[in-house]
Amino acid sequence: MKQAEIDRERARPVPPRQLFVDGDWTPALSAAVLDVISPIDGSRLTSIADAGPADVDRAVAAARRAFEHGGWSRMAPAGRKRVLLRLADLIEAHALELAVLGVRDNGTEIGMAYKAEPLSAAGTFRWYAEAVDKVYGEIAPTAADVLGLVHREPLGVVAAIVPWNFPMMIGAWKIAPALAAGNAVVVKPPEGASLTLLRLAELAAEAGLPEGVLNVVTGRGAVAGEALGLHMDVDAIAFTGSGAVGRRLLDYAARSNLKRVHLELGGKSPNIVFDDVADIARAAQVSASGIFRNSGQVCVAGSRLLVQSGVHDRFVEALLAATAKLRVGDPLDLASGIGAISSAEQLAKNLDHVAAAEAEGAERLTGGNRLLEESGGFYMAPTVFDRVRPEMRLSREEVFGPVLAITAFDTEEEAVRLANGTDYGLAAAVWTADLSRAHRMVRAVRAGVVHVNTYGGTDITVPLGGFRQSGFGRDKSLHAFDGYSDLKTAWIAL
Ligand code: NAD
Repeated sequence: MKQAEIDRERARPVPPRQLFVDGDWTPALSAAVLDVISPIDGSRLTSIADAGPADVDRAVAAARRAFEHGGWSRMAPAGRKRVLLRLADLIEAHALELAVLGVRDNGTEIGMAYKAEPLSAAGTFRWYAEAVDKVYGEIAPTAADVLGLVHREPLGVVAAIVPWNFPMMIGAWKIAPALAAGNAVVVKPPEGASLTLLRLAELAAEAGLPEGVLNVVTGRGAVAGEALGLHMDVDAIAFTGSGAVGRRLLDYAARSNLKRVHLELGGKSPNIVFDDVADIARAAQVSASGIFRNSGQVCVAGSRLLVQSGVHDRFVEALLAATAKLRVGDPLDLASGIGAISSAEQLAKNLDHVAAAEAEGAERLTGGNRLLEESGGFYMAPTVFDRVRPEMRLSREEVFGPVLAITAFDTEEEAVRLANGTDYGLAAAVWTADLSRAHRMVRAVRAGVVHVNTYGGTDITVPLGGFRQSGFGRDKSLHAFDGYSDLKTAWIAL
């Protein structure tokens, strides 16, 4: 990736975008639009359609028609595979365009965005495309006078509701397995980052996905999202976002048609460093990146550093040195290590957490302030607080910003107690040179993923999801694929 190529993409005007319904572009019936503000400089980038309930009805009806028609849902698996592989190739062919468009929309640093958004989405489509014709049904071990067959069938119409931090990557985690399984899909992108998913739908049509199989309704969560949640003809919702909205979706399902709800929610993930950590400098550098990459706007961010007392001072010193090297700046400048905060509201929320931590007596070691205000964009310094007690807000509430809370501990039991001492259970890490301790910690920590001697780093082959209030259901891997089909038994008397 060259700076000149990025600059060329960045200079392209972005035309106002409409809804993508039944294979065509259409404005919201009310003609309402929402401004898209770029977090890079606070300027108005373009507009998106602001869908209302009637638009959601149109999209769901188109998806239902496409599903019932069978052109996709009953297509031979090898045919679905071909289309999804073509889509993966198209995403890759447009990777730079998609990455820059996404960065202009949500502010993620381009190096990360390029890999985590188009390239990862292409990989996800490819992986599920390859799975389509390799997952079999079952023959049950019944008595000799019957034949028990277990078929897998698509659910029908699946709605995917996606957050703004990695809309393509997370969108693909839901759209790819849902389509591969034969469903029709309605996507509700986040209002703060809709542009790449709209482009994805266009590429899917180019790849040969039949009309109505993938629809995109942009707009406000409380309106378009709610309409999907309450819809009587949506069979399942796959959601990634906040716990507050996750609760609403369960309520909508209960009040409507008991649609299935898969929830991937937030976290307050512990990154646990023991005295016997093998390489302090490396662990500190990976830990800094584990919280500060994408300005902490990562669901699995290691936002609580639990560090054993014997190594506390040396580790914190190394961590501050690693943090000082992180360069916050224009996310489309290849020299920047960290980009913008996605919106003015999110920046204000982060600064509020900083003020609360200070008021509660935590010790600010670095950061805590807005940066580059003169750019008009939304930037924040990587922020580290020490002496954060478990009862403080900073230990309990997800910031979803570049704010790290450090708490010291003495024993392994205390580390486990602290690690499990929140309502969440999304991710964790353990740094130790003691293999037995590493395995004990993997068992003891309540989280969907426990990293050992690293932080983050994962791929499509393993499931991602939460324990406790970090949600249920899993993205990625064949476990996620299972979530987009129903089992049907055929019981045949012989
Ligand atoms: P959010 O919950 O505010 O919004 C997520 C999506 O829900 C958006 O598309 C939004 O428009 C929609 N929405 C909002 N109100 C709605 C309603 N009433 N009904 C239906 N839909 C509605 O979350 P966000 O701010 O976009 O994302 C940040 C959150 O997402 C954080 O909590 C983060 O931890 C979580 N997250 C989790 C994962 C994971 O894999 N577990 C990954 C990324 C982000």
